[in-house]
Amino acid sequence: MSIQYLRKILEGSSNIVCLLGRAPAAEQGCDLYREDFSYDVEEKYGRSPTEICSTTFYHNRPMAFYRFYREDILGRRGEPDECNYSLKRMEDDGRLHGIITRGFFDLSRRAGCRDVIQLYGNVDRNFCPHCGKVFPAEYILTHTPLPMCDACGTLVHPGIALSGEMLDSRLMTQAIERISSAGVLLVMGCSLQSTLGSMARYFNGDRIALVNRVSNYSDQAADCVCIGDIEKIMREAYPPHD
Ligand SMILES: [Zn+2]
Repeated sequence: MSIQYLRKILEGSSNIVCLLGRAPAAEQGCDLYREDFSYDVEEKYGRSPTEICSTTFYHNRPMAFYRFYREDILGRRGEPDECNYSLKRMEDDGRLHGIITRGFFDLSRRAGCRDVIQLYGNVDRNFCPHCGKVFPAEYILTHTPLPMCDACGTLVHPGIALSGEMLDSRLMTQAIERISSAGVLLVMGCSLQSTLGSMARYFNGDRIALVNRVSNYSDQAADCVCIGDIEKIMREAYPPHD
């Protein structure tokens, strides 16, 4: 582990882009692919979270879908942590130019970050498929059992990407542009072989810095690797100024 080296890389760059995995606890809490989350959900609904988070299920069983979305996604929203706040400090200092994430809780933005690309959507941007009106998570929580658009009466679509739907290709293009023009790629909370981490293949810059909880054979492709408690590492690698 070389936190000092990481610190040197971060402080020496004015063009960092971050691939932010599900490091923050809240994002991990409802990772659709995590075994214990799947187990909880299967116990409760008799289906896996990936089956529920599909267009077919959403269209055929909207009541059950929205119960799941309220209780098991929105109910686990959590709060931003030091991973998000360290990114906010880097952005404020003019070093960080973009966070790319599959997380849909908007934790970085809630920590104050401005430049965040959420490839899989955002729980605070539920929208009406008919008129386009956008609704925060709060609207979904308070409009039971089914959240209808208050402008046109159509069933609101959740802000997260459902399987069977196309991802927003503009977001993907934007993300690739960011990665390919970055000088330093900070990969936080995922390995380089994960779906998000493998986007490092678009990187042409100087250094890849990896910070993750567990090591992986793919870590060797990074120039600087810090494994352990991510919040602790980031607080030391990019500490608050005072
Ligand atoms: Zn509408």
